[in-house]
Parts: sequence; C-alpha cells; structure tokens
Amino acid sequence: MDLVFATNNQHKLKELQAILGNEFRLLSLKDIGCDEDIPEEQPTLEGNASQKSFYIFDKYGYNCFADDTGLEIEALNGEPGVYSARYAGEEKSAEANMKKVLEKMAKINQRNARFRTVISLIINGEEKLFEGIVNGEILTEKRGNSGFGYDPVFLPEGKEQSFAEMDLAEKNKISHRGRAVQKLVEYLKTID
Ligand code: IMP
Repeated sequence: MDLVFATNNQHKLKELQAILGNEFRLLSLKDIGCDEDIPEEQPTLEGNASQKSFYIFDKYGYNCFADDTGLEIEALNGEPGVYSARYAGEEKSAEANMKKVLEKMAKINQRNARFRTVISLIINGEEKLFEGIVNGEILTEKRGNSGFGYDPVFLPEGKEQSFAEMDLAEKNKISHRGRAVQKLVEYLKTID
C-alpha cells in the first residue's frame, strides 16, 4: 500500500520506512508533487494533525498520515501547546522559545511538563488518531546540544539526562513521537 507521510523530513521518512517493511511504500509530500504550505490553523494538536492529513487525502486522494506535537507545561495551563513552534514569534526560533519558557518559569517550583504527539491516519477516508506522551519537567537552565526545539530544557521523568543530552536512539525509545509512531506501526501491521 502507498501511504503518504505529510512531511518532507527525509530522516523521519527513512526511519519509518525501515520499521514498516515492504508492505507499505512511504511517500513524502515532494513525492506526490505537493509543495504548498499545508494549513495548520486549529486550536488543538488533534485538529492540526487531522487538518493536514485530510488536506492530503481530499486533494491528492492518497491514504496518508500527519503528526503534530506540542510541549504542555502544567503551571502555564498547557502552554505553549499547539503554539510550540512559534511561542516567541513567527520566526520560530528554538532559542527564543526556550528563553520565553525559562523566563515564565523562573519563579515557579511546580515544573511538570509533557511532550504530546498526535498522529492522524486516514485510510480510505476513515480517520484514526494515535497519541504519544512523555512526562517530565522543565529544567531551570538549558542542558545539552543534541536534538532540536525544547530538548535542552526538558528532563524526561526518571532520567538523569535532558533530551538534548541523549543520543537519538535513546530519545526515540521514550519520546512522545516514538511512542505515537509505535502505536501507528502496530495498527498498520494489523491491516496490511
Ligand atoms: P511539530 O508538530 O513536530 O512540527 O512540532 C512543533 C514544535 O514542537 C517544534 O517546532 C518544536 O518547537 C517542538 N517539538 C516537537 N517535537 C520536539 C522534540 O522532540 N523536542 C523538542 N521540541 C519539540
């Protein structure tokens, strides 16, 4: 079965293709000739993942899936959440985003947070949602250089290293995206 992953991140595609094996041929947005910006205008992660995957299904007719991720900080009522990429502005700077989080959290002791990924899968017009969560806390300063986004300020529960101090394989084993992808893959394996 051909399945579009609504991304152009070749690394993500390759990784998933290796897990899925030959029954599924993963296609990127580029592979299907989609070079427009897919709208992400919804107030929730579920809404955005869904909007992206239905956009592809409705316009291009492919079975497909899309993901959306946010960092949800308890003391900030779930912020930055769906606005994680552009928390400090439209330039989507990870440095500025982390600075804003650290400033807002400066005097706050309750530092619980989680990353949450939602994947919307559409097969023959029917949608299924998969969720992956990793709980943890916001550090008081940045630690580590790996990864991306908010990794240097996130300490996963039960771990000594921030996401930015872990290697990718280690992060993937416990991460929000890793967990959501595992659920997606388990489901796809039941329908091939
Ligand atoms: P996206 O939905 O995967 O594009 O993620 C939205 C935003 O959430 C990114 O721009 C990052 O700021 C943040 N984010 C998503 N996944 C991670 C992660 O694994 N580590 C750190 N930040 C992340």
